[in-house]
Amino acid sequence: MFEDNYRQRGLRNKLVRLLRQKGITDERVLTAIGKVPRHVFFENAFLEHAYQDKAFPIGEGQTISQPYTVAFQTEKLMVQPGQSVLEVGTGSGYQACILLELGARVYTIEYNRVLFEKARKLLPKMGYRPHFHLGDGSKGLPAFAPYHRILVTAGAPVIPEALTAQLADEGLLIIPVGDREKQVMVRITKKGNKLIREDFDYFSFVPLLGEQGWKK
Ligand code: SAH
Repeated sequence: MFEDNYRQRGLRNKLVRLLRQKGITDERVLTAIGKVPRHVFFENAFLEHAYQDKAFPIGEGQTISQPYTVAFQTEKLMVQPGQSVLEVGTGSGYQACILLELGARVYTIEYNRVLFEKARKLLPKMGYRPHFHLGDGSKGLPAFAPYHRILVTAGAPVIPEALTAQLADEGLLIIPVGDREKQVMVRITKKGNKLIREDFDYFSFVPLLGEQGWKK
């Protein structure tokens, strides 16, 4: 299951080249994507999908994000080693591995118990150890706040106030905001009591649920 052979490494290098062509320039992000074995998150029958640049079902109606989307969000997050990062929406756990490769201290929260359990079992076997939490990440994770970086990997109807509140000074929040089908990637920078908003490209995420998310 954890075999990472010549062929898989080759496909991963090819994926990295594709992401470069699509405009990802941060070498640390590209190196991380070149390292994390994405095929480990796929069932044997679907292995050939692991290094294609597309989202893929992981059960419970959820998806592992498209590699380009992971790269885009991670690049905009500008993570420095040692920073504490909150990820909302653990899903498969793939994005959490990327954040760990960047040297972050990672807190990841998932709303769905099945996915939470699955990621919590799998990642340590791969050598990745984020702090796993089960709960409603639309309210953040106040116990370990503030965070230098917060990354939301599900589409939100609004920017939850709890998340900007749990951001450290000079901290960054990346969150897709919009309707259920389409969201604009937003970056919030906290400067004292000011929040500066930048809008990037459009993406399509599964909905953020919970108190500050969509009602089922
Ligand atoms: N980062 C993931 C992709 C996640 S898909 C990966 O790398 O695979 C979005 C995830 O957000 C889903 O697993 C979904 O269950 C979760 N989610 C939705 N609403 C949430 C909430 N309020 N709190 C935490 N997780 C939530």
